[in-house]
Amino acid sequence: MIIIEVKNITGTLTFDEERHQMIRTLEGKEEAFLDPLLQVRRQKNLLQKWINAKGYPETPIETLVVISKLSTIIHTSNPSVIHSAYLPFKINELSNKYGGQVLGQNDLLRLGQELKQAHTPRKVDVLQKYKIKKENLRVGVHCLGCRALPMIRVYGKWQCSFCGVVSVDAHIESLRDYRLLLGNVITNRELRGFLQIDSERIARSIIQSLYPVGKTKGRTYRLDF
Ligand SMILES: [Zn+2]
Repeated sequence: MIIIEVKNITGTLTFDEERHQMIRTLEGKEEAFLDPLLQVRRQKNLLQKWINAKGYPETPIETLVVISKLSTIIHTSNPSVIHSAYLPFKINELSNKYGGQVLGQNDLLRLGQELKQAHTPRKVDVLQKYKIKKENLRVGVHCLGCRALPMIRVYGKWQCSFCGVVSVDAHIESLRDYRLLLGNVITNRELRGFLQIDSERIARSIIQSLYPVGKTKGRTYRLDF
């Protein structure tokens, strides 16, 4: 297993492994950050404990700190700190380091499921954070090809008036946006407003694919994808 801690920081980064600091120099100013090497070490310990508690065999865990901006200058001799462009090669390097398979196919699948179930996404109120009013959000189903708004419904499919892309499920992406912006439950009315659907029938067919929460009256639907 590889834990990858991605840092999106510009400037020059100096890793001081004796004092466990990461120092960023930008425009002549120095700023200290929590050492990501320490951060991944902690994550590794926690994951190791979690995996052991679930009864899996001892699984090797590698950790990497990946700097996503290619313009960032890195000062460290630690091979676990890399630029993002090197990541595929680093993964090859690490997989060559380990010979046999520790977990069988079934264990891997079960572990994947358990990790997914235990995952708790961080909740951020995006509208509040960026001071955007709900009324100012641009609604409609956006085109997966050219991002234009809104796609129109033609014979049971979404079609882009700008680039001509046709999709059966472009609304899923828009509902994902809804979930990130406004929360993971939606009412019939909110769904029709956000996707700009006039037809009760189309709204119903989309809603049937969602998980209902609560009673029929004032029912909400969980956006679970
Ligand atoms: Zn388009």
